[in-house]
Amino acid sequence: MKLELKSVVLPGVDPQRPIIITGPCSAESEEQVMEAAKNIASKGIKIFRAGIWKPRTKPGGFEGVGAVGLKWLKKVKKETGMYVSTEVATRDHVFEALKAGIDMLWIGARTTVNPFAVQEIADALKGVDIPVLVKNPVNPDLELWIGAFERLYGAGISRLGAIHRGFSSYDKKIYRNLPLWHIPIELRRRMPELPIFCDPSHIGGKRELIAPLSQQAMDLSFDGLMIESHCNPDIAMSDADQQITPDVLDYVLNLLVIRDATQTTENLSELRRQIDNIDEQLLELLAKRMRISREIGVYKKEHNMPILQSPRYSEILTNRTHMGESMDLNPEFVKEILKEIHEESVRQQMEIMTN
Ligand code: PEP
Ligand code: MN
Repeated sequence: MKLELKSVVLPGVDPQRPIIITGPCSAESEEQVMEAAKNIASKGIKIFRAGIWKPRTKPGGFEGVGAVGLKWLKKVKKETGMYVSTEVATRDHVFEALKAGIDMLWIGARTTVNPFAVQEIADALKGVDIPVLVKNPVNPDLELWIGAFERLYGAGISRLGAIHRGFSSYDKKIYRNLPLWHIPIELRRRMPELPIFCDPSHIGGKRELIAPLSQQAMDLSFDGLMIESHCNPDIAMSDADQQITPDVLDYVLNLLVIRDATQTTENLSELRRQIDNIDEQLLELLAKRMRISREIGVYKKEHNMPILQSPRYSEILTNRTHMGESMDLNPEFVKEILKEIHEESVRQQMEIMTN
């Protein structure tokens, strides 16, 4: 679906990359919200965030202050002039947020996974011209993410943006949520008109990962960043490990290198021509390999042999991975490619067997 989008950039906000949205994970008290907001506004930031309805993995955690927090956000708006944003997960949240004059909404990762909830939010927003950002679903499902945009767009919301906050995985390693950058990159290809924000706080889950993840997002041409910021992160009631003070935030933002050149130099064009050429050769080789694979399929069929010869497959994997390593190729990468190629060969041979 081609979306005719309007900008999420509200009047007075600098449209230059990165557009910054920041504030605490959760609104905890009027004092905490105001202190954070004043500090953040003093850094020239124009869009404030704070969660007031918090979806928690398990009951018993801090579930947000609820609607009372809307009053504090109104005060932030009045006293600092910043735009204010919060997360909505139900129809009632939408109505209350709109009534309180919240300027921007976002849909959380645990809500994007549920088409019923997204539809309910979209229906509640009918006829309202407010920017809505949609976080990726917790699971790496691009179609579900795109489906949420289509639901909102279908309800007439045309100020849409995406927030990449990473994807949960069973075994957590460096990241709280795996970045899987190829997913937002594919989103950009499918919906080039959609602005994409990166949320390095939720991806990294740790303060020290905020700067490198923000830089990576900028190098991938993301439009903005949503970063959690709290004046005293250590005592934050939610996501303490991934919030930074407004001072640290300012420092991190000042260190970002924004590479914006669109002009390619002669050298780059020449290198790109070489890449185009190599891709063509790779495809020709793949086509040739598949033709031979099909010939093998015909042979196996005629000789009543099964398609899968597992010792042969293991031998290919081991031998090629070593071969790749000696050429400075990442063994995991080589293995992935060979698995894909093998899978396609098997599919081709299965077609021959059943014809
Ligand atoms: C949040 O932004 O505080 C939040 C709950 O994020 P997510 O939906 O990405 O987990
Ligand atoms: Mn959070």
